[in-house]
Amino acid sequence: IPEFETQVAIIGAGPAGAIAASLLHKAGIRVLVLERQQFPRFSIGESLLPCCMQFIEAAGMSEALNKAGFQFKNGAAFRRNGNYNCFDFTDKFTQGPGTTFQVERAHFDKLLADTAAAQGVNIRYGHSVTAIDLNARPILDISDDQGKQYRLQADFILDASGFGRVLPRLLDLERPSNLPPRQAIFTHVEDGITDPDFDRNKILISVHPQHQDIWYWLIPFSNGRCSLGVVAEPARLAHQQGTLEQQLFALVNEEPGLKRLLSNARAVRDTAQLGGYSARVSTLATDKFALLGNAGEFLDPVFSSGVTIAMQSSALATDCLMRKYNGEEVNWDKDYCQPLTQGVDTFRTYVEAWYDGRFQQVIFSEDQNPKVKQMICSILAGYAWDRDNPFVKDSLRRLNMVVELCADRQSSPTPEP
Ligand code: FAD
Repeated sequence: IPEFETQVAIIGAGPAGAIAASLLHKAGIRVLVLERQQFPRFSIGESLLPCCMQFIEAAGMSEALNKAGFQFKNGAAFRRNGNYNCFDFTDKFTQGPGTTFQVERAHFDKLLADTAAAQGVNIRYGHSVTAIDLNARPILDISDDQGKQYRLQADFILDASGFGRVLPRLLDLERPSNLPPRQAIFTHVEDGITDPDFDRNKILISVHPQHQDIWYWLIPFSNGRCSLGVVAEPARLAHQQGTLEQQLFALVNEEPGLKRLLSNARAVRDTAQLGGYSARVSTLATDKFALLGNAGEFLDPVFSSGVTIAMQSSALATDCLMRKYNGEEVNWDKDYCQPLTQGVDTFRTYVEAWYDGRFQQVIFSEDQNPKVKQMICSILAGYAWDRDNPFVKDSLRRLNMVVELCADRQSSPTPEP
């Protein structure tokens, strides 16, 4: 079997892999990216957060992105039982970009990967990683579309294989998520939305009128289409009948606001489902490999944090690798796993509180303190690593304080006029 060599091997050319490859290449480190599929390929995860624009900028990809014609995004809107509240990401506590895009991932991922390739990164499409040997210098077994097999030696492996979760599977690192399994049913629609009040610059998260743990996403694109999906625990979907498309639209029709908005909508791709996507691992990195993005931990889609976490992990891991090649000591647990986990855990606090209703109480409360709203807005915009933000540093206690305030306000009698 032929054997090749590089400094850093990257598994997967999604957002995590493309950003990591670009950052390393810019630093003069030799990288080789192995991508199982041909691009463009479909991926779910179309609503970005402003925080991720920093990593795109650092990778020298902003110009290409800004020219691509994607739908501008400046916030998130929430609706439950006719109550509507929105968060403007430009009005936030943390410094940094306040706007981003809503993207069809097939185009977006290809754009990042093509931009990395134009910078000089070598990406091999149709090359799948099938095995790893970590006994000495890491060696990957690879087979390509034509059935050719070869080995690749590298100093270090970055696993950016997303839901492929290559190293967690091969190295038995997978652990059950502490979030209950949930299921998403989704498609793209020609939306036909005529409501002049509908804000195409924001993701719309709608909550089911009877079951607060069922929610819908509606992500407008720039071409008159939207990504539409619903998320629920499998037991809630068990009684649904018909095709997946019929199930999705039956659920949409249970939410009157969404039903009205989408009365002209028609699906333009096969409706799909994904379940049990929340995932954890026993370790995110050693001195031979690091797991990036979804290959490490995936929480939940509700706050659109996936791509941001993926790119944040690329930035942290490539920073460690640059220090390593500069002859500095790297402690992968302290310098990579812990800082990455801190932000993921911040999101986890809000995800858990979304499903048990506490965070929804805050989101839909009528008179929000503007300063508190800015701090929460920072997190919704992806800045979950800004420890100057009390709602990051001390997320659970701060959130519970606000929840209590909201509950007090709701239970206190309305003053006599
Ligand atoms: P990916 O984008 O999945 O890329 C991994 C790549 O690795 C793929 O191209 C794959 O072909 C390749 N690969 C896999 N196995 C191998 C192998 N053996 N060899 C070589 N290559 C391999 N995130 C958001 O930011 N916003 C959202 O609105 C959002 N909505 C979501 C909705 C749902 C229902 C779900 C489940 C997730 C959502 N996400 C969202 C999360 C988002 O999809 C992911 O977090 C994001 O795609 C992760 O990027 P990545 O680069 O880690 O992996």
